[in-house]
Amino acid sequence: MTTEVLVRYADERLPRYTSYPTSPQFGPQVGANEYRAWLGALAPGLTASLYVHVPFCRSMCWYCGCHTTVARRDGPIESYVAALRREIALVRESVRVRLPVAHLHFGGGTPTILPPEEMGSLLSLLRDTFPFLPEAEVAIEIDPRTLTEDMVVALAAGGVTRASLGVQSFDAAVQKAINRVQTFEETAAAVASLRRAGIQGVNFDLIYGLPGQTVASCLDTVARALTLRPDRLSVFGYAHVPSFKKHQRKIREADLPDGPARLRQAEAIAAALERAGYRRIGLDHYALPSDPMAVAQARGTLRRNFQGYTTDPADVLLGFGASAIGRLPQGYVQNEVVIARYAERVAAGEVPIAKGYALTDEDRLRADLIERVMCDFKVDLAEVFGRHRRPAPRPTEAFPALGPLAADGVVRIDHGRVEVAASMKPLVRAVACAFDAYRGLGPRTHSRAV
Ligand code: SF4
Repeated sequence: MTTEVLVRYADERLPRYTSYPTSPQFGPQVGANEYRAWLGALAPGLTASLYVHVPFCRSMCWYCGCHTTVARRDGPIESYVAALRREIALVRESVRVRLPVAHLHFGGGTPTILPPEEMGSLLSLLRDTFPFLPEAEVAIEIDPRTLTEDMVVALAAGGVTRASLGVQSFDAAVQKAINRVQTFEETAAAVASLRRAGIQGVNFDLIYGLPGQTVASCLDTVARALTLRPDRLSVFGYAHVPSFKKHQRKIREADLPDGPARLRQAEAIAAALERAGYRRIGLDHYALPSDPMAVAQARGTLRRNFQGYTTDPADVLLGFGASAIGRLPQGYVQNEVVIARYAERVAAGEVPIAKGYALTDEDRLRADLIERVMCDFKVDLAEVFGRHRRPAPRPTEAFPALGPLAADGVVRIDHGRVEVAASMKPLVRAVACAFDAYRGLGPRTHSRAV
């Protein structure tokens, strides 16, 4: 029964719920004027998280689902950094309160494509613009293939505390099929260099469901990754959406593992990591028991944001750069995706918001339910409704999609508590979807449930 149910749901296309509502609901009804007004209305006492997007890479990996473009020269990168500096100043001008920073994340693309001196001065600019809390985490995504010693020195000097390394697979045939050839030695050298410089937090990103991948090749990748003892791993299923990401057309659909094979790969990786002492965090993260993420999960304080699972409790997320998404108590905003348009608007002195979404009280309630399910695999409706000053309803009356999930054994419902069955945890997105008022609406660009 379990496998049959898992396989049946595994092919559903579902959001990853890194926000609620999810980005297909964002629209032009929220733009630069609303964002400025929202920033100006931020109350004292809030903390912020910053996200800086760098949408450039030296080459394109065929599986990539990020907003990025290939830059062979440094000119466009330097112009982009100039736009980033201007955007940071524009946003700061609109904020009227002191906004201490608890977390800074550089994502991409490949943030370490910046010249090291530009990275150093961008880090200084952010620290001069916003007051950083002493315990602030400063994290950056790294491509080990192009990481230089000078960059590691600049990152350490700028106070970077955590590095997230793209690994995906150590299988040479898989690497060739995804246009990302990266030797184990390159990854090992990057880890050693970061740790030597004092950057102790090391995450690896792995992917299953890639062309030519098998359970054996996934397990071999895990075994090799574990020799480097990262303190966290993220393990994602490859999302094949070639209509949306044109470079993915270079991956032949016939070479992709099918739903049951993907499920076997995900389960084999999870079991290997758990045997090695890692705790499973939410849907797709793994952390050593002493890691703050494992501690947050045990305490029920784990959060979910655009980077996935996080320990970051900040009330405000300010996004900088093309396509960056921000979250304020009032709602979400997203910057222009096309780099030229982003830079043009910033040069004109505008905050470059392309679209957004103003949250209603109903959205906030559903967002809370979905975040707890995604983080804890269970949610107590009385507790969440109580936080939103509303009486708790009967679960299946308020959220009818829970009925079939309960009938299939995916969830257990008891006294207003909805809990994902242990063997059904890979289907947590299907459970979150039961609380989503927009389910089934909007373009079908989501990835498989498993
Ligand atoms: S390095 Fe990362 S962001 Fe760049 S193309 Fe590859 S997967 Fe995408």
